[in-house]
Amino acid sequence: MKKLLMVLMSLMLLVMAAGCGGSGEKKSAEQPKVLKVGTEPTFAPFEFQEKGSKEFVGFDMDLIRAIGKQLNMQVEIQNMGFDALIPALNAGNIDVAAAGMSITPDRQKAVDMSDPYYVSGLTIVVNKDNNAIKGLKDLEGKGIAVQIGTTGADKAAKVKGSKVKTFNTNAEVFLELKNKGVDAVIIDKPVAEYYLVQGGKDTAKLVGETMEAESYGFSVKKDSKLTPQINKALSDLKKNGEYDKIYEKWFGKKAAAK
Ligand code: GLN
Repeated sequence: MKKLLMVLMSLMLLVMAAGCGGSGEKKSAEQPKVLKVGTEPTFAPFEFQEKGSKEFVGFDMDLIRAIGKQLNMQVEIQNMGFDALIPALNAGNIDVAAAGMSITPDRQKAVDMSDPYYVSGLTIVVNKDNNAIKGLKDLEGKGIAVQIGTTGADKAAKVKGSKVKTFNTNAEVFLELKNKGVDAVIIDKPVAEYYLVQGGKDTAKLVGETMEAESYGFSVKKDSKLTPQINKALSDLKKNGEYDKIYEKWFGKKAAAK
């Protein structure tokens, strides 16, 4: 008898649990969906990892997290090679690439890009003791280190007689310059400036004019519903002051152009 009661009670519990499961299911439909973000985290101050930390920090990381919040989505960021981001979008392995990616016609053929969120440009970095290179013209026939798949790599390839060395990360790019494996680096100006401030100025310096006006955008798979959603979130963040807050946190000044 006691046994039967126990069986009955556990049956009742099971039914109750199933009931809860039902309402739980309903709840989970309202729960934030995951926004899978890909990045290449050697691009400080846009995306990087502090020494000994796995956390992704930087301007892009804060901005995409704020966008995720606007969209009621849970942001999950993963690390991949810069040249792997567009293939990963097209394969559906990630939803968004947040990687200081300049909006270019070529990329716009392969993926959708959001409205611009940062105005950038390319610069040349050389060793401090190099007084021969003062601008792009002086790079002819010289060794140039760049990150694979970047606009800097495109620029370097167009320099007459250049010997271009491509690397997976910007850490390797700067190291190659320091080790005098190349004469110069072509990289995004804000990243070069951050590198100098972080200690790079002991051995390196910027030269020449800022080249190529470029704007960064988030990349999304072609014709994804996410693109207008991201643009709307970005525009809301620009209006409500959140974008300015994030900008000031990383650049210590107000955005001149958004
Ligand atoms: N802005 C450059 C590009 O889009 C570099 C980006 C990067 O190295 N993360 O190619």
